Amino acid sequence: MRRKGILIVISGFSGAGKGTLVKRLIERYDGYSLSISATTRQPRPGEEDGREYFFLQREQFEQKIAEDGLIEYACYCDNYYGTPRDYVERQLNEGRDVILEIEIQGARKVKQQYGDALLLFVMPPSAAELRRRLVGRGTESEEVIEKRMRRAAAEADGIEEYEYIVVNDDLETCVAQLHEIILAAHNTPGRNREFIENIRTELEGEE
Ligand code: 5GP
Repeated sequence: MRRKGILIVISGFSGAGKGTLVKRLIERYDGYSLSISATTRQPRPGEEDGREYFFLQREQFEQKIAEDGLIEYACYCDNYYGTPRDYVERQLNEGRDVILEIEIQGARKVKQQYGDALLLFVMPPSAAELRRRLVGRGTESEEVIEKRMRRAAAEADGIEEYEYIVVNDDLETCVAQLHEIILAAHNTPGRNREFIENIRTELEGEE
């Protein structure tokens, strides 16, 4: 039976640690590919074009939209963010699980197009812990922290649209749990239609 790749969408509040989690998942287990998004936002210090994001001018991004080169895109804090289609399709066809680390509007659009996509939401253990992590980063002003905390409250309304939540308390435990959920998702009937149909046909031949 040929293993088909799953498109995995990971969302979560800013500060929930989804970036670290995804990085660790890919380091620890084989078979995952991380999609690199395109964005019109400016690179932050230390970010490299083609590593964190493909940094595009607005016109270049709009060209991509016009060519249908993006699976989805969203406007977030005045910038475009979008998922390039080619890479994702290629990796899925090769049987790899592809991870998209995107926000909720994008997650919804992905689910509309890829019914088998697996939607996961990363949560902090508590709101106080989320604040502590945001403050602890030391990179955000008080005003930005307040803005992100308010945004978290708004984003929390959409959590039921996801299939699983994972609580990022201890990183390694959380990574293992994430991997187990994905392994289990491979075994749902909906993601194994071809295999099931083949067995049915074989069984009919036995009669
Ligand atoms: P940041 O600017 O902090 O890197 O990302 C801001 C938000 O955009 C995060 O919630 C991130 O998950 C989301 N994001 C990153 N890439 C994409 C994308 O390709 N599509 C969508 N819809 N959201 C994205």
